[in-house]
Amino acid sequence: MKVLVANLGSTSLKWRLFEFSNRQERMLHKGGFERVTDYPKAIEDCLAQLRDAGHIASEKDLSAVGFKTVLALGVNGCVRLDEKTVRAMEACNSIAPAHNPPYISGVRLFAQRMPKTPLVGLFETAFYQWAPEAAMRYAVPQAWHAAGVRRWGFHGASHKFIAERSAELLRREDVAQRARRLYVDGGSSAVRQPDLRVISCHLGGSSSISGILNGVAIGNSLGMSPQSGLPHNNRVGDLDAFALPFLMRTAGLTLDEAERLLCKESGLKGLSGGANDIRDIQTQAAQGNTNAQLALDVFVHHIRHWIGAYFLQLNGADALVFTAGIGENRAELRETICANLDQLGLVLDREQNLATRAQEAVISAPNSRVQVMVIPANEELVVAREVKRFLENTQS
Ligand code: AMP
Repeated sequence: MKVLVANLGSTSLKWRLFEFSNRQERMLHKGGFERVTDYPKAIEDCLAQLRDAGHIASEKDLSAVGFKTVLALGVNGCVRLDEKTVRAMEACNSIAPAHNPPYISGVRLFAQRMPKTPLVGLFETAFYQWAPEAAMRYAVPQAWHAAGVRRWGFHGASHKFIAERSAELLRREDVAQRARRLYVDGGSSAVRQPDLRVISCHLGGSSSISGILNGVAIGNSLGMSPQSGLPHNNRVGDLDAFALPFLMRTAGLTLDEAERLLCKESGLKGLSGGANDIRDIQTQAAQGNTNAQLALDVFVHHIRHWIGAYFLQLNGADALVFTAGIGENRAELRETICANLDQLGLVLDREQNLATRAQEAVISAPNSRVQVMVIPANEELVVAREVKRFLENTQS
């Protein structure tokens, strides 16, 4: 069985092709295009690359295309992306304006190009279905909650992969198994004691932190929308709800303009005054740019804030994991995040940290009670596995 997982951005298309056979799974191919202006052509070129590499003769060899879909009210888990589901995603465009529209148009283009191939989405909210209600509620009128104003949590595929992989590395096969089977068994299956407590930091263009107890999420720093939680590259992160009506009244901002500014001109970009890539921000800060340094300081402050929250909720931590573009590659930032935590039992191995880039490694000192790890993100694998399971369940 071959499953193509497509990662859709407004101007990017990235993919990984997986093959499943006799209990074995392999990634056959990965690739992508940036600065895409003609999406149907990008899909065509993706399929051409898979043909040229000899992985498929035609799209008929794909059992399904899987997508890391973000949000649709009333839909969760791993589902067929039929028109009804796509319309439910469309109804959430204003909650996820940077994510849902490219997915919707991309999924429709894939549907046109390969109408007979199942298109299946694993929603990023799926990992939080078993989080305690108290962690997911906002203190709003009940009717608002019923309308969807609640914490959903995102980056579910990434944090689920960390739940699985960190348990494997910590030699807790019982927890790894529970995390792998979470969407089949739910969050209630038993594991042996003691509890395995993991704090997963997905730090990239979009960032979030999850607390994970025995393979199951207890919460995520992202709330109702992917614009919340930590500051993102150009999206705002947490903001007092009353800031918006205040600015609309006093500065005459329209709702559309406010949305655009919160979604495209805020986050690290807003703080630094222009740069939104952490590499550029760090370079500017090193050159003495105080706004760039402030952007880094705010980012680190919020990261530590959320790590602290889960450290308390979990009654400590067995592992603190860094993943995604920044988490995997920016050793200096990891060092700043982990500074002065020895009283909490967390001590970094400075040299091992500096030597670790985009590879799996333990970067804490031998005497650290909390193991600090870098684990490269593998969201696509989580999507592919769930799509495979979905196909097996629906075809049997
Ligand atoms: P992501 O959204 O996971 O692709 O992460 C994007 C962020 O990670 C950007 O802010 C980059 O600065 C940072 N990043 C990604 N790849 C690298 C790399 N190879 N070296 C340093 N930073 C990186």
